[in-house]
Amino acid sequence: MEKNKPTIIFGPVPSRRFGISLGVDLSPTSKQCNFDCLYCELDKAKTVSKQTEVILVDEIISQLQIALAKHKNLDVITLTANGEPTLYPYLDQLIDKIDTIKGTTKTLILSNGANIYDPDIQKILQKIDIVKLSLDCVSQKCFQKLDRMDKRIAYEKIVEGMVEFRKKHTNQLITETLFVKTFNDSQEEIDGIYQALLQIKPDRVDIGTIDRPPAYDVKPVSYETLLEIADTFKGLPVTIAHREKSVQKFDYDEDQILRLLLRRPLSSDDIEHLFSQKSKDILKELVKNKQILSVDNNSVKFYKIL
Ligand code: SF4
Repeated sequence: MEKNKPTIIFGPVPSRRFGISLGVDLSPTSKQCNFDCLYCELDKAKTVSKQTEVILVDEIISQLQIALAKHKNLDVITLTANGEPTLYPYLDQLIDKIDTIKGTTKTLILSNGANIYDPDIQKILQKIDIVKLSLDCVSQKCFQKLDRMDKRIAYEKIVEGMVEFRKKHTNQLITETLFVKTFNDSQEEIDGIYQALLQIKPDRVDIGTIDRPPAYDVKPVSYETLLEIADTFKGLPVTIAHREKSVQKFDYDEDQILRLLLRRPLSSDDIEHLFSQKSKDILKELVKNKQILSVDNNSVKFYKIL
């Protein structure tokens, strides 16, 4: 690595959801974000509405070209940032240039969704193969307390912006909601998020909780709470992201497994977290006997009743 040159490209890293990912950091020198989430893994920082430390497109592309020549068989090039990647002022230009060198590798952006009501941002994000937007809150109180949003954000336009974007974006749209104890786990907020997601119609809904040291002193919700929320989100393709290993595993018989799947399809992650080895063997038999179908939904395997 050259001295004094910011490290823009990182990885490749294997990701369970997206495969082998090469990361592009659009804010490598400091945190530049329009949120200052309580659960952020980065240090606390004052929110901004635009980047002041900006990396040139040519610099990014030249580092990316070197990495692409070195690493073959990548699944995704992930646009991310120490902060919010849509604050990068040359995003449009950058995506156009990446498209000319990426080959069959897909582009992915991880955004907090706060700018999604901006028509220019919508236009830019439509060029990206997979767009992942966060939606932790629907109420002003929650956006202020949990995501600690920049005052210039029109929070009431975020859901509307996501709905509008969904209509235009024919590629994959994934949402992610991170639940934090006492901040967005009230029935009212959960119901509000559910109603919003029903309107947005994402291809996949990821829910999870804090699993890395957060910037502020906040607590995760339990895996059981995530399961209850997933049950509430009826009709949505929900996956639970959870790293907790000590969750109790259950012995389900055939009938119990079928009844579980009647309530909602289970992802391979859910099976890992909930099923004992005995239950997994029964599930395997049910799949073999075609009583249960295993399907790929946007890079995640789901089990469902035929
Ligand atoms: S949006 Fe992401 S980078 Fe920004 S404060 Fe929240 S968690 Fe941190």
